[in-house]
Amino acid sequence: MTKLRLAIVGAGPAGIYAADILLRAERSFDVSIDLFDHLPAPYGLVRYGVAPDHPRIKGIITALRDVLDRGDIRVFGNVRFGTDLTLDDLKKHYNAVIFATGAVRDADLNIPGIDAEGSYGAADFVSWYDGHPDYPREWPLEAKEVAVIGNGNVALDVARILAKHADDLLPTEIPANVYAGLKASPVTDVHVFGRRGPTSVKFTPLELRELGELRDVDMILYDEDFDYDEHARASIAGNKQIMVIDRVLQSWRQRETGEASRRLHLHFYAKPAEVVTDASGRVCALRYERTRPDGQGGVVGTGKFRETPVEAVYRAVGYFGSPLPGVPFDEKHGVIPNHEGQVINPDNNEQVYGVYATGWIKRGPVGLIGHTKSDAMETISHLINDVGNWWTPEAPQEDAIVELLEARGIRYTDLDGWHALDAHEIALGEPEGRARIKVVDRDEMVDISRGDTVATN
Ligand SMILES: Cc1cc2nc3c(=O)[nH]c(=O)nc-3n(C[C@H](O)[C@H](O)[C@H](O)COP(=O)(O)OP(=O)(O)OC[C@H]3O[C@@H](n4cnc5c(N)ncnc54)[C@H](O)[C@@H]3O)c2cc1C
Repeated sequence: MTKLRLAIVGAGPAGIYAADILLRAERSFDVSIDLFDHLPAPYGLVRYGVAPDHPRIKGIITALRDVLDRGDIRVFGNVRFGTDLTLDDLKKHYNAVIFATGAVRDADLNIPGIDAEGSYGAADFVSWYDGHPDYPREWPLEAKEVAVIGNGNVALDVARILAKHADDLLPTEIPANVYAGLKASPVTDVHVFGRRGPTSVKFTPLELRELGELRDVDMILYDEDFDYDEHARASIAGNKQIMVIDRVLQSWRQRETGEASRRLHLHFYAKPAEVVTDASGRVCALRYERTRPDGQGGVVGTGKFRETPVEAVYRAVGYFGSPLPGVPFDEKHGVIPNHEGQVINPDNNEQVYGVYATGWIKRGPVGLIGHTKSDAMETISHLINDVGNWWTPEAPQEDAIVELLEARGIRYTDLDGWHALDAHEIALGEPEGRARIKVVDRDEMVDISRGDTVATN
């Protein structure tokens, strides 16, 4: 019987679902899977993207953990593809590889001033508040008035975390430095800007509704944004999600405001044009063009520009994938070029045998965690059918990869190590009545996972 030695790079939901689906699939061969991640902890953006005050979504980790705990997938944390391991290494030890490396960077927004001091990418801020080990521990929360550009769920996450009182985040798993940073924030006004109207937003009703429940935060809407045209009215009548969004927004318009110490403003028909800076080069305002509906669901500029004074700007205009050494990459879309998960060479559109992709690096950074499951099914079905076209590794023995990592001095972590770190974080939270407190320092994470002397910092 043929045996498939499979490497999966990326232990986020896409990589874990792919492993699970393959192990459960009907097939005529044995499988042994090694799952690599450059972080010492698994779960990708579920741990390092999903907001800490969304415990229900974070709870998906329990299902992912159940898959790993079954014991039929070997986990190698703290191993980065591209530096610690190359494609040639994988070819030597495996029959195939699936890349499930997701996306962690901010997409660009090309407007003047976007690189000014005080202008940030949402992905960087998310990585900070979710305790990603590769991001600075300090975040400059010095602004009273802040702009958030974007009308998707990430923009709402960023606006909510900025506007929320830090004490209301204490029951979550936020690291101690994040609590301290948010607690000291002088923020009073968070302005969210979207270039379309209220019936064309990309956020979901549940996320929107949450904003209205924030303690001591007034929701501020502007009457001029609610002069709906026929297309907007038809959208409300014909789409339940838009109907609910409209209902939530209308209910906020009726609310009394003025008592709260913080305000969250939603500006629609506002297309960012420039991050305005002062003489020292620091952000001092967001300049935007007022738009109007074009009658077909889009918007056109009106040529009228306005400025809102702010001291910080966060752009939440999407994530973007990163290239992997030796693997084809589509620079325009930030994905690995592929046909239903089979990686293709963009020069001749031919399949690159043995190489597959799944999740956000396959499809682009849109969609919920659940979508990575259907992604994985498609990729796995091709992997199974391609049985005759896999690589023929020279050293497929399971020990060989361990020997290679050890020879290179890589301090890899394994599943037992993750259990140790997980238990450590839970124990840290216990005395304070919190579910867990995340360990943020990479060396400390690795030390705890490997049972080495814990570094103090
Ligand atoms: C801010 C934010 C909030 C979100 N909130 C929600 C939500 O509330 N609900 C919801 O359903 N979805 C949410 N999502 C979407 C969800 O996170 C994604 O759908 C999902 O995580 C994509 O899974 P993935 O496995 O493709 O990528 P990822 O989750 O990004 O996992 C990729 C993994 O690959 C690893 N990796 C990357 N490069 C390398 C390398 N070179 N070597 C080794 N390993 C590598 C990374 O460390 C990571 O662990 C949110 C996304 C973001 C950005």
